[in-house]
Amino acid sequence: MPELPEVEVTRRSFADLIAGARVQGVHMGKPLRWPLGCDPQALVGRTVQSVARRGKYLLIHLDQGVLLLHLGMSGSLQFAAQLPSRGVHDHFELETSRGRLRLHDPRRFGAVVHAEAIDDPVARKLLGGLGVEPLEAGFDPLRFHEALRQRRASIKQVLLAGAVVVGVGNIYACEALFVAGIRPTAVAARLSRARVQRLHAAIVQVLQQALQAGGSSLRNYSNADGQSGHFQLQTQVYDRAGEPCRACGRPIRLLRQAQRSSYYCAQCQKA
Ligand SMILES: [Zn+2]
Repeated sequence: MPELPEVEVTRRSFADLIAGARVQGVHMGKPLRWPLGCDPQALVGRTVQSVARRGKYLLIHLDQGVLLLHLGMSGSLQFAAQLPSRGVHDHFELETSRGRLRLHDPRRFGAVVHAEAIDDPVARKLLGGLGVEPLEAGFDPLRFHEALRQRRASIKQVLLAGAVVVGVGNIYACEALFVAGIRPTAVAARLSRARVQRLHAAIVQVLQQALQAGGSSLRNYSNADGQSGHFQLQTQVYDRAGEPCRACGRPIRLLRQAQRSSYYCAQCQKA
């Protein structure tokens, strides 16, 4: 599943190239997770002003309105002057004066939704519940601690829920908790300020590393300039059940939390 670093790497790969492009055509494939919410032909003639990101949504700002694009479970974007003819899994394509932006999404959990503005009800419904951006100044260790003190769930579930901080998906949550020495099952509200500060630093570090590595290696993922994102980032714990911990040598353990796999080292993450 594309996570925040992959979405951000995707954004950077085409944002500057598409800025200023005029929409010349819109092609729709099979239905995605949510309907577009406007007549596709109404987008023709619009100009792309910029591409921003909020959580895992790409925000394609037009001179009128905005497209909120989510890659879902298996989506990937390509942007190029020329693309091969559309295949059965290509469900959205913006034909522009600078090239074609194509969403390839075999499982169709992705979506492209039109909103009149970023603060209109349609956009607010999708973006309204999102926590702070982990790579921006608003992600502050003391405020993070304050927010966690209100949460009785496990720290792993709180991170995945995205209401406190967005974009810390399963891989990055497991890795950051290892770096911080915190067990995934620890109750969020009981973490001391010092441990939350370590977790804060670990989240930033793990996400920055992933961004630098170009996003994680995901089966269906390729960034919009057609290069595959390879984050064969050496994970510390994620997907390493039974393998030796890189710090202490004991086997990495696997447990299920809310139907997600949590990987941890019982020695390095004692509580
Ligand atoms: Zn260990």
